Amino acid sequence: MTMIGNNLQQIRTRLAQASAAADRAPDSVALLAVSKTFGPEAVREAALAGQQDFGENYIQEAVEKMAILREMDWPAGQPGLRWHCIGPIQSNKTRLVAEHFDWVHSVDRLKIAQRLSEQRPASLPPLQVCLQVNPDGGVNKSGVPLEEALALAQAVAQLPNLQLRGLMAIPEEAPDFAGQYAVHRRVKQLFDAIAASGAPGLAAFDTLSLGMTADIDAAVHAGSTLVRVGRGIFGVRGQR
Ligand SMILES: *Cc1c(COP(=O)(O)O)cnc(C)c1O
Repeated sequence: MTMIGNNLQQIRTRLAQASAAADRAPDSVALLAVSKTFGPEAVREAALAGQQDFGENYIQEAVEKMAILREMDWPAGQPGLRWHCIGPIQSNKTRLVAEHFDWVHSVDRLKIAQRLSEQRPASLPPLQVCLQVNPDGGVNKSGVPLEEALALAQAVAQLPNLQLRGLMAIPEEAPDFAGQYAVHRRVKQLFDAIAASGAPGLAAFDTLSLGMTADIDAAVHAGSTLVRVGRGIFGVRGQR
């Protein structure tokens, strides 16, 4: 087995163990492979090992990678890849995102959501969207403050070519499990409150995108339904 295939298997085992420890079903947490800075060959290796969902931060880099992967020869029956944009989105990049991605986890302003909806090609299904929230006031990070998230969710849920799916957060690094869990739990509580708000357009609000290589276990305990793992699958990233 390849290194990436082996890493994937270990992460899946870790997810299954964390789910069991948290009394959750083994398939209740999806795995997003974060392939930023890694080339198309690494993505291909992961895809051949059964991984279907890939996360990218840098939009131009991602679009080039997608084009190369589309041109490759694939085994018969190989499922298509699903692409998730998880990085900050400038206004001048919304068209690329709307045209090339299946999911966006990093919407934190209504203006960006409106552009994504307007620019989503009619030939594609609605863009699946998570709102990025900022649970700890981290100064360098994007994300809507928790107290503004419900209003943003209500507005985004009205946009015709988007489907609001949930929340995403990138907490500051915490020193231990308890610290990680406490922040994740705040996001989970907000997620539950929005889901229970009865706002229209929330029928598919089912995704809590929480947890990375360093805090998978705390995120699963707190209720994450999708973890975003880069280093744990692809290894150490070079500087970009
Ligand atoms: C890079 C990145 C990840 C993956 O982080 P790892 O520590 O490599 O697992 C997850 N989410 C976001 C938003 C990222 O930018």
